[in-house]
Order: sequence, then C-alpha cells, then structure tokens
Amino acid sequence: MSARMVLLGPPGAGKGTQAARISERLGVPAISTGDIFRANVAGETELGKQAKQYMDRGEYVPDSVTNAMVKDRIAQEDASEGFLLDGYPRTEAQVHELDAMLSESGLALDVVLEITADNEAVVERLLKRASEQNRADDTEPVIRRRLEVYAEQTAPLAALYEAEGLLVRIDGIGEVDEVTDRIMTALEAAGVTA
Ligand code: AMP
Repeated sequence: MSARMVLLGPPGAGKGTQAARISERLGVPAISTGDIFRANVAGETELGKQAKQYMDRGEYVPDSVTNAMVKDRIAQEDASEGFLLDGYPRTEAQVHELDAMLSESGLALDVVLEITADNEAVVERLLKRASEQNRADDTEPVIRRRLEVYAEQTAPLAALYEAEGLLVRIDGIGEVDEVTDRIMTALEAAGVTA
C-alpha cells in the first residue's frame, strides 16, 4: 500500500519529531512546509521574502504561495510512492487544493494523523524550544497567536477528514518513543505499513 499521509496537530505537539521517525520507518519523505519556508527565509529567496512577514507574526502565508510550493515538492521523484506532509494543509482551501493536486494524477490521501495536545503543554514546549533554537516566531505572544490561528483555521480540518474516514487521532502527550509507538500501531491498523 502507498503511504500518502498528512500530519495535523497544533504547533508544539511534536509533529516535526514524529514526522522524522515515521518517515524513516516507512521510507517516505517528511515534507514540512514550515521548514521549507524557514530555509527560504534563511537563503533570502523571493519565496522567503514573501513568507517572512507572515511567519514573524504567527499568521499563515497566503495559499497562492503555499500551494504552488507544495505542488512542486510532492511532484518530485522521492515522493512518488508516498509522503508525510507536516504543516500542510492548514486551511480548508488547502485541503481542496491538495485533493485536486493528487486526483490529477489519480491519487488520494491514505491517512490523516492528528496529534492532540493541550494548549498549556504546547506553550510550555514551544517556549523551551525558543530558548534552544532561537526561532523568531517562538516568542510568547507569537506562540499564542499561532495557537489561535491553528484553532480557528486548522483544527476544523480534522472533522473534514473524519467525515471522509481518513482521520486517526493520537494522544501527543507522553515520552517521544511512546507517542511514536502509538502512531505506528495506529498506522498499521489503518493498513499503512513499510
Ligand atoms: P510550522 O513550522 O509548521 O509551525 O510553520 C511555521 C510558519 O510557517 C507558520 O506559522 C506559517 O507562517 C508558515 N506556514 C507553514 N505551513 C503553512 C501552510 N500550510 N499555510 C500557510 N502558512 C504556513
């Protein structure tokens, strides 16, 4: 079976850490739109210049910019058998855009994993990460804004995927290994294996 997957969950729920592990175990690339944007900001590319002003405020980069970037990335050879999207889609328009990109090639998502974590736990994790990684969008007011934007625009996407029978919910609180085990067990149950 192919493994075309989406990872949902609030900032700080551990998506990046888990994405790297799932990617390694299933042999599909983890594609983080946040990482691609940050690399472009660091490289001062045109895309980076467009994205930075939104990222610094904790707002979403416009769909026109984000969709084109994802379309290009999932068309690359290493994603032909599957991928794990971390941080995309984040809006209902992006959900439809992703469906359209895949169905153009006769493809569809296999599973959507939602990692859940409570607000205060993720604020705490993000503040800790801020002191370690010095990310411009990890200050407390920006963190709170990112969580608000997630709750308004992205959390509702879980219900859309649930209605399609694609959603698997995972409790993201606990040791990293424990959460990975929960995810791998749930993926196996959903028919996604290496
Ligand atoms: P992340 O590392 O996934 O938390 O993303 C960091 C920032 O990149 C977000 O706060 C947004 O500004 C931007 N970003 C990442 N993915 C998307 C997306 N799918 N749509 C719009 N903006 C995004």
